[in-house]
Amino acid sequence: MADTVLDKFLRYVVIDTQSKEDSESYPSTSKQFDLLNLLVKELKDLGVPQVSIDQYGYVMAALPANVSTKVASIGFVAHVDTSPEVIGANVKPQIIKEYKGGDIVLPGDSNIVIRESENPTLKTALGKMIVTSDGTTLLGADDKAGIAIIMTAVQQLIANPKIPHGEIKIGFTPDEEVGAGTKFFDIKKFGAQFAYTLDGDTTGELNKETFSANSCLITVFGRDIHPGSAKNIMVNSVRVISDIISRLPKNQAPETTEGYEPYIHPYVLEGGAGKSTVKILFRDFKTAGLDDLKKTVEKVVAEVQPLYPKSKIEMQVTELYRNMKEGLEKETRVVEYLDEAVKRSGLHPVWTPIRGGTDGSRLTADGLPTPNIFTGGANYHSRTEWINVWGMEKAVETVLNLLQIWVEKSK
Ligand SMILES: [Zn+2]
Repeated sequence: MADTVLDKFLRYVVIDTQSKEDSESYPSTSKQFDLLNLLVKELKDLGVPQVSIDQYGYVMAALPANVSTKVASIGFVAHVDTSPEVIGANVKPQIIKEYKGGDIVLPGDSNIVIRESENPTLKTALGKMIVTSDGTTLLGADDKAGIAIIMTAVQQLIANPKIPHGEIKIGFTPDEEVGAGTKFFDIKKFGAQFAYTLDGDTTGELNKETFSANSCLITVFGRDIHPGSAKNIMVNSVRVISDIISRLPKNQAPETTEGYEPYIHPYVLEGGAGKSTVKILFRDFKTAGLDDLKKTVEKVVAEVQPLYPKSKIEMQVTELYRNMKEGLEKETRVVEYLDEAVKRSGLHPVWTPIRGGTDGSRLTADGLPTPNIFTGGANYHSRTEWINVWGMEKAVETVLNLLQIWVEKSK
């Protein structure tokens, strides 16, 4: 019996591939090679002729065309790493063979509940198979589902040589979750003219728009001294930084915004009396809007600084990624054919803006148009992450349909 998309998924999620912020090395954690090397072996075992892995961990492979017409070479990309925010070691996937509705209490921690009220897409999983973690870790559907889908599509293409396709490129990347998934990715070597990431969530949902993103680091320097003799000498940076954070607009936070609304998100706070730092994300679909977010924070800093004249506040903004929309508008086929492929899989395509970025954001900016395809997962970067197995199967179908559409349209 052939290895199914579920078999592959279960095999990949138990491998710890958590990436790490602020690492000196690339990939950020060497354990990502455990899965990357396994994928090299599995691709070779499937009979894929060209498979390579480089020093950075990028796995690239190519399947030659099986038609004589000239068809664009199409790439499929997914990332092996899981979010640094939630533990990804000792994942114990739980299979619910037939979801009957209602809240799902996870067996490893009864406080962790996948609630019907917070998961409107659970409805689409009624009567279907769901996989969750045991509640003590994330699941890793982001993005091991994407990898399982690509590997299954490749397996099916090799098993069914009558499915027509042009040249196919496969790319597996590390470090997407720390914003560095394509840092050393060699687009030329990859060789695809167009690509798709399999890194979305809800079944049928597609993405051609992402946030534009900058990150901001605020450092407050105070002066530390023994509290017993601190009067008029100590400058407590913890108080200064908390004053800054409390003044950030609460109606421009991820927890109070949706759709196309931008946000400012303080997400890592570190420090002590002498020195404190806060990392902040700036996100907006309009790249120009990022400057407004920066100005908002600059204004807060300017208000707080005079209240603590002996402290020193520094602010540093770094560019992360840009909305892929512009790049995709230059080449409409890549989006149109995907829309058609989803319809042929019996689904209604829903194009939603991603309130985040994907490897496709950077690839598109660098000249490789790369929209994003659903995987069937939900609640990424959390212990309530779950996936609809039917959604993964539909994604495999979509990939196979997409390849055939590229062939049909090239005639
Ligand atoms: Zn992802």
